[in-house]
Amino acid sequence: MKSSELLFGSFAPKTLDPAASFGNKFSRILDALDLAATVRDKKVCIKMHLGGGGGFSTIHPFFVRKLVAAVRKAGAASVFVTDLYRDTIGAIDRGYTEEVFGCPIIPVCNEKDDNYRSFPVTPAFQSMDRIELSAPILASDVLLDFSHIKGHGVCGFGGASKNLSMGAVTDRMRQILHSLEGGLEWDEAKCIHCNKCVDNCPNHAMSFKENKLDVFYHNCKFCQHCALICPTKAVKMTAGGYLDFQKGMAMTSAKLLEAFLPDRALFINMLMDVTIFCDCWGMTTPRLIRDIGVLAGRDIVAIEEATLDLIGKEKLIEGSLPPGRELDMDESKHLFERIHHKDPYAVVRYLEELGCGTRRYHLTEID
Ligand code: SF4
Ligand code: SF4
Repeated sequence: MKSSELLFGSFAPKTLDPAASFGNKFSRILDALDLAATVRDKKVCIKMHLGGGGGFSTIHPFFVRKLVAAVRKAGAASVFVTDLYRDTIGAIDRGYTEEVFGCPIIPVCNEKDDNYRSFPVTPAFQSMDRIELSAPILASDVLLDFSHIKGHGVCGFGGASKNLSMGAVTDRMRQILHSLEGGLEWDEAKCIHCNKCVDNCPNHAMSFKENKLDVFYHNCKFCQHCALICPTKAVKMTAGGYLDFQKGMAMTSAKLLEAFLPDRALFINMLMDVTIFCDCWGMTTPRLIRDIGVLAGRDIVAIEEATLDLIGKEKLIEGSLPPGRELDMDESKHLFERIHHKDPYAVVRYLEELGCGTRRYHLTEID
């Protein structure tokens, strides 16, 4: 298979001329994408992760506004931004409003999580027997996957695929995917009964019953907050599940992209403010690496591969890891794997196996 073309804009300007700034470079990337060929007279959906809680390291509204304006200028019939209902509620805290964007912000599956289409998975993959996808996205002509790149506690890496598979689905579907990770284990001998796990569970899924930790899996979203906050590592996810999680994510993205590939999907990855955890974490920690820039193209596999390759060349900024996190000293591993102990390329390999694109790419730098 031949390689896929990707556009790259470096965050670093080559001169101090404002025309060389990253904001103007971003506009030139959009020009070079030839949006009109894809979006003219079409209904366009822009899928983003709008973040949550006190986090502020999502994509700056400056770029969203530019993107929406470019889509409109290219002749789109309509355009909207979408994300999970819960994240649209607090979006204003990050400067994300319809007025700023210049287009509506619509919850992926409605306020009640009931606007979706369900597709059976036959045979079922582990416990995943269906894929529930956003109906408003599927009703669009063009999907623009606009992703903030960061690390992820469960799969090592959050990029374009995660933006779709965990963000363009129902709450139930996210739980189905998270359940592929495996369950939680509690080591009573290590527990000092500080109650931090219980107090910090955002879903009230944990409690102590007769001094034994009890997980109410119906409520558990497998977010790992309890495991990460435990000072003695008495709580942990059961091992080996992350590859199933990656595969489930790839299957979900691939199902959604069936409706848009090969020529009605565009991908833009922002390699800026690359933090250790997902934007739903509800807080922003220091960026791990310098800001790299932006990648854009029409192949989700190629753009994810290139994203990881660029991040893999970077050095960790000293002092950027949160307390309790240590860097694996094996420099042959990817930076995200050295932090999260999970191969971040797994989802990219699964996506390629599912026919979503190729890991071979060619970068053209836009100045
Ligand atoms: S994984 Fe998340 S939802 Fe589940 S018990 Fe731990 S903190 Fe609660
Ligand atoms: S956070 Fe860890 S040590 Fe504290 S109560 Fe929970 S399991 Fe025990």
